[in-house]
Amino acid sequence: MTTEPRITVVFRMDDYASVSWTELELRIIEAFRKRALRCTFGVIPYTGWGDTGNPLPSVYLPLVPEKVAILKRAVADGTIDVAQHGYCHQPFRGKPTEFAALPLDVQREKIRRGAAFLSSSLETKSSVFIPPWNSYDRNTLRALDSLGFIGISAGKCGAVEGGLSLRFLPATCSLTGLKGAVAAARRASAPSSIVTVLFHPSDFRDHSPARGVLTIEELDVLLDWVCVQPDLEVLPVSECMVHGDLSPVVFKANRPIDLLPPFLDRGMRYVLLPASPAIGIRRRSSVTAGLVYAALFLACLLAAMAADWIFRPGFGLTLIAASTTVLAAAACLIYAFRDGSISYRGLAVTLPLFSAGLAFWSRLFLLTR
Ligand SMILES: [Zn+2]
Repeated sequence: MTTEPRITVVFRMDDYASVSWTELELRIIEAFRKRALRCTFGVIPYTGWGDTGNPLPSVYLPLVPEKVAILKRAVADGTIDVAQHGYCHQPFRGKPTEFAALPLDVQREKIRRGAAFLSSSLETKSSVFIPPWNSYDRNTLRALDSLGFIGISAGKCGAVEGGLSLRFLPATCSLTGLKGAVAAARRASAPSSIVTVLFHPSDFRDHSPARGVLTIEELDVLLDWVCVQPDLEVLPVSECMVHGDLSPVVFKANRPIDLLPPFLDRGMRYVLLPASPAIGIRRRSSVTAGLVYAALFLACLLAAMAADWIFRPGFGLTLIAASTTVLAAAACLIYAFRDGSISYRGLAVTLPLFSAGLAFWSRLFLLTR
């Protein structure tokens, strides 16, 4: 008897709060409930406003009793799993983060206050943390570990801190990307894989006609599709963290390679694989990316040399071309590295410029001999 590969699908909806759209959330809960599927809600304990330069806002609106009651019912019947989504989801100094770069004691106090409120109002302890905007740093991890959280669910790129017992379950795709992510997981043929679907109320056209990408009826159709896939199982975030291997090793092995063009990735950025197959795919992808960029560099170098041979520009024109291309390549490289790393787009623009510059400088060298 052969064992089919098991693909775990995790649904994570962020931004359940006092001020979120209750009618839509009730319809989402019902969509999961009537299919006996489970979803994790990222719940914002307090709604903040006012001074975004205050790292620990003291003015807030706690999750209102009506929203608490909805959650308690959905938790009690097993439909909803609650994760703590920050403290009050307020950007710090206008940046899309509530935690990253703040001191450890401030981060710890914010998380502690949010956790204390959720556990007292919901009468159950939430052991998973979802940082707003998926933004956190090592201090966030230290704070979570010291407060007894079992894991963090953010994005596929993020800090890791050694010596802690935290688990990592990153979001990997959107609702509209779920079928593609499942197809990629099937292609990987790993013994197990996880697809974590991140969505927000604002993804629904029922809530945001301009920004939304699907309707509640389309969610119904998607969940029906999930129910009839024999190799899928649906788990909430906390259960997945308890039963799966979601160590920092697995998290790091699944980090996307920025330099890999999406058409070479074959959808693997939308899936979380066990460490061994993920490392194998990373190695193969790195070699493929290296070959593609080497081929691009050589092709552009040969094209520039051919143009040089055909048009045979004089010394002045060649000097201008050589200087311009090298300066442009350097400017592109600096711009591409502005975030501390370079993406495939940056390299795809910079490499042809450098290869053309090399061809022009070679001709200059020949002209001056
Ligand atoms: Zn959020």
